[in-house]
Amino acid sequence: MGAERAYLDWNATAPLHPAAREAMLAALALPGNPSSIHAEGRAARALVEAARRDVAALVGGETENVVFTSGATEAANALIRAGIQLACAIHPGLAPLAAPVLAAGIEHAAVIQAIEAAGLPAGYRIPLPVDAAGLVTAEALADGLAAARAVAPGVPPLVLLQLANNETGIIQPVPALATLAHEQGAVVVVDAVQGPGRMPLAMAAMGADALFLSAHKFGGPKGVGAIVFARGETRLSRAFIAGGGQERGQRGGTENVAGIAGMGAAARAVLVAPEAAQALNQVRGEFENRLNRLAKDVVVVGEGVSRLPNTTCFAIPGLAAAQALIAFDLDGVAVSSGSACSSGKVKSSHVLEAMGIAAPVREGAIRVSTGPTTPWQDLERCLASLEKQLARRRATTNSVSAA
Ligand code: PLP
Repeated sequence: MGAERAYLDWNATAPLHPAAREAMLAALALPGNPSSIHAEGRAARALVEAARRDVAALVGGETENVVFTSGATEAANALIRAGIQLACAIHPGLAPLAAPVLAAGIEHAAVIQAIEAAGLPAGYRIPLPVDAAGLVTAEALADGLAAARAVAPGVPPLVLLQLANNETGIIQPVPALATLAHEQGAVVVVDAVQGPGRMPLAMAAMGADALFLSAHKFGGPKGVGAIVFARGETRLSRAFIAGGGQERGQRGGTENVAGIAGMGAAARAVLVAPEAAQALNQVRGEFENRLNRLAKDVVVVGEGVSRLPNTTCFAIPGLAAAQALIAFDLDGVAVSSGSACSSGKVKSSHVLEAMGIAAPVREGAIRVSTGPTTPWQDLERCLASLEKQLARRRATTNSVSAA
């Protein structure tokens, strides 16, 4: 980002990719409604359908199985309700909204709150524990599936898996977990929001029956996302937004043409730059080395576990995230202390809590997340600010102990 500010919060929102901006401006210039049959309508429709192809290509899916939404949160809500419906359709006679739902405590609020809001009967919300490395183990999933069988025999449960965590970058072993879930007849939905541009995204290899994305995490605009179904027949059985039949009857409402065009352009851009992940990994390695030299007692959450190459979540004993974030900001450095969805407020991370991480580390956890255009000087600036903060803390501690 250069001299003005160092923007190191790509997991909250990645900067708009120039190709996305260009595509959006072109789309905004079109007057037509994509459902209209005249030339202006057809021109808008062409942009939406081109973007649908690009988003499908990003995850190795089929174009006709992409449903555009207003973002990942809407997608998660729709899929959780639809997944329950899907399970109920397979098991007629079951009360509506009564398929067991399995999800880990490290999931994003979009998933956790959508499950809470689904009004499931007692015992149908089955939490999946994670181990100290933040991973859902095969044993934990097997136990969860057994609990699902006990509470609702014969009903296919819905299993939510997170591809990579927004706060820690920790990557779940989704293919192995999905295989296990499928062996028990479960429906698997994957939150792939943090994946694009950072890791491979082959939907078939993942074993997802459906996944969802959010454009602004990979250079598209905010407020647009998509569901990608693995197969045509696993579509939503009913429209989750009733209206004019758009998105093949699954989500009513005139499409956000400019947003969708921007998402498509961003998908194309990250797809043609697969080497970016490797470069990010190198930069992150150097950043973490420097962190270690600055503070020998630094804790890097998920160190040694497979992580997104752009994310470092760290804590330094005695450095409170709430104060550190302000100090970074005053020094021109934008970082985060966890999920931006709780932004405005710095609160203890439910993700780190689910991992069993002790309160002092949780309260000090700072997330630095980068992207392919992050200059090294931005990370230098972050390190310089941190060094200043640590020196100030030492001076305060010394003056207190001398007093
Ligand atoms: N899932 C993950 C892993 C995320 O990081 C986010 C956003 O931070 C979401 C879901 C929700 O995305 P949105 O706020 O764009 O709907």
